[in-house]
Amino acid sequence: MTKETVIQEAEGLLMHTYNRFPMVLDHGEGMYLYETDGTKYLDFGSGIGVYALGYGNKEYNEALKGQIDKLLHTSNLFYNEPALEAAKCVCEATGMDRVFFTNSGAEAVEGAIKIARKYYFNTRGRSDSTIIAMDHSFHGRTMGAVSVTGKAAYREPFEPLIGGVKFAEFNDLASVEALFDDTTAAVIMETLQGEGGIFPADPEFIKGVRKLCDDHDALLILDEIQCGMGRSGAMFTYQKYGVTPDVVTLAKALGCGVPVGAFAAKGRAAEALVPGDHGSTYGGNPFVCTAAKAVFDQFEKLQLTKHVNEVAPYLWSTLEAVKEDFPCVTDHRGIGLMQGLQFTFAPGDIVKAALKRGLILIAAASNVIRFLPPLIVEKAQIDEMAGILRESIAEVVSAQTGK
Ligand SMILES: *Cc1c(COP(=O)(O)O)cnc(C)c1O
Repeated sequence: MTKETVIQEAEGLLMHTYNRFPMVLDHGEGMYLYETDGTKYLDFGSGIGVYALGYGNKEYNEALKGQIDKLLHTSNLFYNEPALEAAKCVCEATGMDRVFFTNSGAEAVEGAIKIARKYYFNTRGRSDSTIIAMDHSFHGRTMGAVSVTGKAAYREPFEPLIGGVKFAEFNDLASVEALFDDTTAAVIMETLQGEGGIFPADPEFIKGVRKLCDDHDALLILDEIQCGMGRSGAMFTYQKYGVTPDVVTLAKALGCGVPVGAFAAKGRAAEALVPGDHGSTYGGNPFVCTAAKAVFDQFEKLQLTKHVNEVAPYLWSTLEAVKEDFPCVTDHRGIGLMQGLQFTFAPGDIVKAALKRGLILIAAASNVIRFLPPLIVEKAQIDEMAGILRESIAEVVSAQTGK
């Protein structure tokens, strides 16, 4: 099938919820992706922060193949060993006591919200709980997750949403404090906002929110779906701040391409859900849990957090230099291998110009390009990326001034 045929037929059959780039991806190797016609791309998007291990990790692939021949699915009426192994990894890495495996990030957020409501119900004996969420946040596309997402355009067409959600301003502690009252069950936020434009939490902010939650017996839910799993240089970004949530949500790099998410909780929050409260037919099946376990094994074997700490400063200085050389770049933010450049204009044309030159970049918010390479990225590939990025910015800027 030609590329054009695939694109044309897919446009007729897939629901039109995305404006896709006209590329048909076929396979990958390390940091590179290839189209069906052989066109090669350096990948600085990782399938939106998913492919932490890079493409074609042999041991990960072998682990999956081995499980395929044994058993893919059991339902949660029975136990399976891979789920136990993956649970050990998640609880050890997050510092949480119990975990529930989901099929996506949004479902992990749904579960976290259910814990918050159930915990409130158990401790207060009332059903009037509220949740404080953040402006510019992103938590997913299911109804509960949309309800706590701080972008009105994602919420409004789907109202009425779940009730009792109030929005505070990220990194403005007073705005959070002002919303606390005796109905507050939880605060939910990303430790490092991704989709909203790569905004890390200020240390005093996240510590202040932790304290407010403690003072009000409310749960702190940290969404680490994008910023977790080593991307910050710690397994979870909150570990960089020395703050521990009551509930953490994971997905994206947890399965490195196999759809698996999780919500994990600590202490009394971990005991809030009991039989009958929550479930999932696929959730935590032996196939996806084999993937999660294999991902943790590779993190250890490849010493990926150490590697992130080695290469991230190089990505930082490389992007700082880009910022200095191009006045249209107004800010550079991020932690580890999750960084963003903010532009004076919507950078869609830069992303397209980079694709033409064989570099995959992804946008965030309305004016940011985010850099989310596979965690195996080396300095040489950061240089390769920067060369293409500079050419692409220069091309777009000169087209703008030429007009
Ligand atoms: C991607 C993302 C989600 C949603 O995950 P899905 O797997 O797409 O449902 C939720 N929260 C954050 C922070 C994300 O980046």
